[in-house]
Amino acid sequence: MLEKILIINTGGTIGMVHSDELDSSSPLRPAKSWREVAKNHPILDRFPTDYCQLETLIDSSDMQPKLWMDILNIIETNYYNYRGFVILHGTDTMAYTASALSFMLKNLDKPVVLTGSQVPLINPRSDALQNLITSIQIAGNRIYGVKNIPEVTICFRDELLRGNRARKIDATNYFGFSSPNYISLGEIGCEIKINNKKVLDMPKEEFFVDPTFNENVISFEIYPGFNPLYIKTITEAHPEIKGIVLKTYGNGNAPTSEKFINILKEVSEKNIAIVNISQCATGSVKMGLYEASSALISLGVISGHDMTPEAAITKLMYLLGKNLSFLDLKTAMENNLCGEVSL
Ligand code: ASP
Repeated sequence: MLEKILIINTGGTIGMVHSDELDSSSPLRPAKSWREVAKNHPILDRFPTDYCQLETLIDSSDMQPKLWMDILNIIETNYYNYRGFVILHGTDTMAYTASALSFMLKNLDKPVVLTGSQVPLINPRSDALQNLITSIQIAGNRIYGVKNIPEVTICFRDELLRGNRARKIDATNYFGFSSPNYISLGEIGCEIKINNKKVLDMPKEEFFVDPTFNENVISFEIYPGFNPLYIKTITEAHPEIKGIVLKTYGNGNAPTSEKFINILKEVSEKNIAIVNISQCATGSVKMGLYEASSALISLGVISGHDMTPEAAITKLMYLLGKNLSFLDLKTAMENNLCGEVSL
């Protein structure tokens, strides 16, 4: 039985230090090495882990699809040598990385757990140690009596969330993340209680990495006063754009003006996929429920149902990388690939 867990450090607050060591109000920057940060926590040596890191540790505001490929590479190379993987990641873009990895790690049959913290590990009141140890225990599953969770998840504070359903919802408090349209996969209290029925089934086929990706996607959030000409101007100036994620109101409603509709028509005639997701924190797009979304259906706008913006953007990038016909792209986008959407 494989015993070890591989920790992959990408950076983030968890391993940050103050740029001026003597001034705790100076800006935080990633430490050069994890050892430097973890040395005050010898308890971490008790866990059966190996450690590796990206070439440069980053604030996750600098996360890029290229780095997702590096993470995928590490997982692919080490897949059969470890029981599970823990990815240390900044909280700001953790939900994007979790979503992107969930689409590209196919037939995953072991845990990939992303975690981080709101306060660096070096700080005495940090949330990092608990998040890290719980993530190691979840990634190590049977060793610690936890069910094997064959998914990309986010472990933060007292919840285990499906990665492609999670959102960073709080920049200050320790709970940090939520999964507004899907129940938590696990509650982390004195015990780690896994909601078995909500976890993805074990895959029947063999694991592989599917790193197709086209990042030429843009996202617009509409608001009263939004000028649709911006969509036209930007897509004309950047013909490489292949997809738009449109954050609309409520159940997927958008302005009904001729100007707005005509511009979307022009855009979709250029074979740019338009995906409709809601600005609401919970609930789903239901095009056709109101007249204010009926016209979008006839333009071929794709329903993002109840996907998070992070899942919709990365799923669109992933599917665009496959050069599918418009119809196949629409079908794949509107259907469930790995638990990211409720139908
Ligand atoms: N800016 C940090 C990052 O995302 C915030 C954090 O880790 O909590 O890397």
